[in-house]
Amino acid sequence: MRVLLALALVAALASGLALAAGVWRVPDRWNPWAPLVIDATPNLLTRYKLDRLATAPQRCLAVLSSAGWRFEPLPDTAPAPGCGLSNAVRVQAMQQWAVGSAFALSCPSAVTLALWERHVVRPSARRHLHADVVRLEHFGSYACRNLYGRAGAPRSRHATGDAIDVAGFVLEGGRRVRVARDWQGDDDAARFLSEVHGGACRFFDAVLGPDYNRAHADHLHLDRGPARICR
Ligand SMILES: [Zn+2]
Repeated sequence: MRVLLALALVAALASGLALAAGVWRVPDRWNPWAPLVIDATPNLLTRYKLDRLATAPQRCLAVLSSAGWRFEPLPDTAPAPGCGLSNAVRVQAMQQWAVGSAFALSCPSAVTLALWERHVVRPSARRHLHADVVRLEHFGSYACRNLYGRAGAPRSRHATGDAIDVAGFVLEGGRRVRVARDWQGDDDAARFLSEVHGGACRFFDAVLGPDYNRAHADHLHLDRGPARICR
């Protein structure tokens, strides 16, 4: 028994030393302290790494840069109670997509959008539409407002730049897929939209589409926040 214990101790000490000396390295994908890499296949640690970016502004910007996004960091603002931007960026282009008008998003939400672009929308567009998306069409992101614009309602996640409303996509060759027009169908565009809606729930916290309510009939609301909902 004592011999076994001693052996276990020696083994633990040896692997600890090997790790410390850099002889043996945990692959970055499985190292919780390694930075998130957008192109890496998501795994159990992805959401953890994503959540950690909320308290690491510089590291968050570095992740976006290495993903090939075109953006500029925005100064922090607090124009009204519950409103404002902190560690946010103005997005001019995503990894492979143009974005129409540039939009402001908190850096962690932008990284979440990057994961969705890379690991959900891109494969889904190839599978269902046999084409790549070249442009994201959106109804905006940051807006200092309450939920549904109602007085007395809590602040929307849009009020802190943690949400974006996705209206559709433009494919190479010019075909457009629109939530407003194509969600209800039973063709390839509808299947694509349904899949990118469901896939968004892997990375975002709240995902609301036309099946949720009439206010979302023409877009997918994607946000990072305290509420986990996928409807
Ligand atoms: Zn929204």
